[in-house]
Amino acid sequence: MRLPIYLDHAATTPVDPRVADLLVRYLTLDGDFGNPSSTTHVFGRIAARAVDAAREQVAALFDAFPREIVWTSGATEANNLAIRGAMRAYARRGRHLVTGKTEHKAVLDVCRRLEQEGCSVTYLDPEPDGLIDLERLAGALRPDTVLVSLMHVNNETGVMQGLAAIGALTGARGILLHVDAAQSAGKLPINLRTLPIDLLSLSAHKLYGPKGIGALFVRQHPNRIRLEPLIYGGGQERGLRAGTLPAHQIVAMGEACLIARLEMADERDRLQRLRDRLWSALAGLGDVTLNGHPDRHWPGILNVSFAGIAAEALLAAMPEIAVSTGSACASAANEPSHVLKAMGCDAFRARGAVRFSLGRFTTVEEIDYTIAAVRAAVGRLRELSPCWEKRRAASGTVDWTAPSNGLGKADSGPAHLPALAR
Ligand SMILES: *Cc1c(COP(=O)(O)O)cnc(C)c1O
Repeated sequence: MRLPIYLDHAATTPVDPRVADLLVRYLTLDGDFGNPSSTTHVFGRIAARAVDAAREQVAALFDAFPREIVWTSGATEANNLAIRGAMRAYARRGRHLVTGKTEHKAVLDVCRRLEQEGCSVTYLDPEPDGLIDLERLAGALRPDTVLVSLMHVNNETGVMQGLAAIGALTGARGILLHVDAAQSAGKLPINLRTLPIDLLSLSAHKLYGPKGIGALFVRQHPNRIRLEPLIYGGGQERGLRAGTLPAHQIVAMGEACLIARLEMADERDRLQRLRDRLWSALAGLGDVTLNGHPDRHWPGILNVSFAGIAAEALLAAMPEIAVSTGSACASAANEPSHVLKAMGCDAFRARGAVRFSLGRFTTVEEIDYTIAAVRAAVGRLRELSPCWEKRRAASGTVDWTAPSNGLGKADSGPAHLPALAR
């Protein structure tokens, strides 16, 4: 077994070796390196054909039409194009949009910017389990609402929204629905012929493809969704997204989607078993809280808070396990997770949250090693915490609201390590 153990697949996945093998064939002189727009010669035409095939593979994963797939640099750009592009193209319908407080920053920051430009945005509070309440959503829709943007699987908690019910609400009112599916694409079935979704964001590096490539599904049938582009130039992607197509990345994303389509069901079952094994062992440590809905979630993500322990202290105490506190972006900013705060977790529990995210190459041995490492670290940190001992003796449980080891002001001992080794 290789150390450190990678359990941060929600931040990014390693490229599948089958995908990497194909990618390098589209780079060099002895491969197919042509510009897909160079239709005057065979180099360009071969690259164009490869791009077309990849477009079909991506579309096939969602039962979409190839012409509904627009290449982007990733889900961030796809979210920007969907939200900004739709609000501009449909400005005459209104300037209101609805999203959720637990969305990725690549949605929330676009909304904040649109507010500065005169749009009005409703940010829905989730239920404590992370789900968006449908009545609350319905209550937020107005005559001037153009767009609803909600994610499928949350990148911090794994909580999975019910897209069919959300789409039924928006569709009945003629409101566009955008879904950030960066975490669920290739992992859960998403059928865009039957689901009333108008725009769907994808990222290759969350499904064992390379970073820097993604796509936006833009519905063309039965209704054609219009968008105003963000990028102007050579007219690629039918004018929606100019720029030379990176054939090597596109081919890789196509292959990643093909593999996902064939292996999705088995992979999900396997991850469910690994996740159950991890969760039952961690829950056995006592005073461990699961963050997010227990069933309506993607099994690849397990978000837990350990009472009396700050996530940074736990991560520092087991450097051989690569996990994260909330999202990669939040770790960089060192802020408590906006997702957990929106779900009503107090600051202490949010600061104690650790996200384990499992993937295609995670093994049972790695999970068992992780369980042992967490058990040892939690035991050590709790022993060092005078507050923990006192409170456990007094009440049998720990009071989250008071400062305790690593969470409050200066405590003693190595448990209060700064957030190093990340
Ligand atoms: C990773 C992620 C993104 C950003 O995707 P990039 O391709 O890295 O830009 C957006 N939304 C969610 C839910 C994600 O998990």
